[in-house]
Amino acid sequence: MKEKPIIPIPEGFRICGEDWGLEIAEEGQLEHKDWGATHFDKFKIVVDPGGGDVLLKKTVLHELLHVIDHLSQLKLTERRTDLLANWLYAVMVDNPKLCKWLFGG
Ligand SMILES: [Zn+2]
Repeated sequence: MKEKPIIPIPEGFRICGEDWGLEIAEEGQLEHKDWGATHFDKFKIVVDPGGGDVLLKKTVLHELLHVIDHLSQLKLTERRTDLLANWLYAVMVDNPKLCKWLFGG
């Protein structure tokens, strides 16, 4: 098993009424260049925390966008998915008051 992040990741999430799992990848579960993968047939995302906290969070956003893309049939490219994830992450990190207003907490 890969090293777990310092702050545990949520065990899952809901999208459009579907329960999805969010798991740390087992050794060898991901292609060596990938930090995450979405398994649409198993309703789960697996991620490698080995790149650090920021990359892990961007990867989770990236994989969430793959799920949204799949459900919405947006046909996002890998590049556009990555850009959207990075931009969303940057905007949210730079705007904690906006995020608190949007999401509560
Ligand atoms: Zn991707």
